[in-house]
Amino acid sequence: MEQVQIQAPQIRTLLDFPNQFYQDLLGYKPEQTSLQQIPETQWNEFATQKGLNPNSSGIYLPINQTAVIQGENPLSLFHEYFRHGLYCEQSLQGRKLVDLERKLFYIILVM
Ligand SMILES: [Zn+2]
Repeated sequence: MEQVQIQAPQIRTLLDFPNQFYQDLLGYKPEQTSLQQIPETQWNEFATQKGLNPNSSGIYLPINQTAVIQGENPLSLFHEYFRHGLYCEQSLQGRKLVDLERKLFYIILVM
C-alpha cells in the first residue's frame, strides 16, 4: 500500500496555512504530531486492515502521535491532526494518554 509521509511537499502545503493560523491564534501548533495521508482509493483497504469502520475518514494514534487521514479530507485534518494532536501535546491528560499507551505497548512486548 502506497502511503504518503509528512515529508512530501504537498503535505507541507496542506499544513502550512492551518499551522500558521493556529500559531497566530494560540501561540502554538502541533510539533510532535505526524500526518499520514492515505489516498482515497486505498482508504477502504486501509480501514479494513486496521479494523476501522470504512465509513470513517481518519484516525489518531496516541502511541506514535500520528494522525491518519483519508486523502486531503479537511474535516479529518482538523479533527485528527489539530484537535487530537494538540490535545495530546498541550494538555496534561493528553500527554498522560500518550505515556500510558506507550507503557502498555512496552508491557505487551515483554510479556
Ligand atoms: Zn476523534
